Amino acid sequence: MTTPELPPPTLRLKVDRAALASNWRALDRLSGGAAAGAAVKADAYGLGVASVVPTLLDAGARQFFVAHWSEVAAVLAAGAAPNQLAVLHGVNTPADAAYARETGVRPVINSLRQAQLWHEAGGDHCHLMIDTGMNRLGLPPGDIGDPAIAALDIDIVMSHLASAEDETDQSAQQLALFESARSGVAARRASLANSAGIALGSAYHFDLTRPGLALYGGVPCDALASELTQVAFPQAMVMQIRSVPTDGLVGYNATFRAPHPMRTATLSLGYADGILRCWGEGGALSHEGRTLKIIGRVSMDMIVVDSTDAPDLAEGDFCDLPYNLVAAAQSTGLSQYELLTLLGNRFAR
Ligand SMILES: *Cc1c(COP(=O)(O)O)cnc(C)c1O
Repeated sequence: MTTPELPPPTLRLKVDRAALASNWRALDRLSGGAAAGAAVKADAYGLGVASVVPTLLDAGARQFFVAHWSEVAAVLAAGAAPNQLAVLHGVNTPADAAYARETGVRPVINSLRQAQLWHEAGGDHCHLMIDTGMNRLGLPPGDIGDPAIAALDIDIVMSHLASAEDETDQSAQQLALFESARSGVAARRASLANSAGIALGSAYHFDLTRPGLALYGGVPCDALASELTQVAFPQAMVMQIRSVPTDGLVGYNATFRAPHPMRTATLSLGYADGILRCWGEGGALSHEGRTLKIIGRVSMDMIVVDSTDAPDLAEGDFCDLPYNLVAAAQSTGLSQYELLTLLGNRFAR
């Protein structure tokens, strides 16, 4: 039996590839003499590696980062070469190391134990993450002199900034620690800056920068705002138009009572798609420039909006969820990172 072709989706995520390419080029230019790579972990922050990776390759990106080995196959299938791809979580088991060897994808070594696992697997090229004060994942600077580190064949020595988007002296402290730590490591390239780190200036750029959020239209700091454009545009279909009388109740737990006769539209998206209940408090969609306020609770698969002022809105029409990440973060209380990575796999990308 052949699988029937899927009907057109009622939930879409438009990914503006031109905007994505333009964001990468802007970040590459702002990285000065350094090349910009790309963090494509978590399915390219929810936008889909299948379209994001080829677009970034076309734009000129040559170094990609994911977090898990489970993310590797899709990035390779999208066109990245194994030696252009790094796994940030490194090798946590012998099976990780074996998989790295088989695929040729490079682990980021984060500890003496990981270095040992890599050696035991006959490891060759790898990267090294040094912890410079975030105390999350990475080699403590005190371990740099260990023979297991000296024996690694390191391409990129890197560290990660904890607060690059904040006005704080932590970044300068991390920079100083990174400078001194990397002098004890033989590596071909060095890398420190994430998206916001790029805006901290040339001292932070080294050979390679690692933007993620900003590629996808997130704005981590004001200095980057004018350089970046929105990439992700969620849209959902109107499945039903209803007339709700005065005092009609909408949605779970009857949190909304109609103050007057209303026209409402029921849309095909919900919290299972990443549009969490926090969108319900003051959130809205839009259709042809008209605002459609969310009323009642966001359900798992549905959202009801007030379409009284859009009388021509019809079943089958698509509405836009405003996804200006700065504004959406403000109104939902979610971070821009969460807003992107929450977008679920029912969106047709
Ligand atoms: C996620 C990640 C990045 C990208 O950070 P953004 O803030 O999204 O630019 C860079 N480096 C490492 C190690 C990361 O984990």
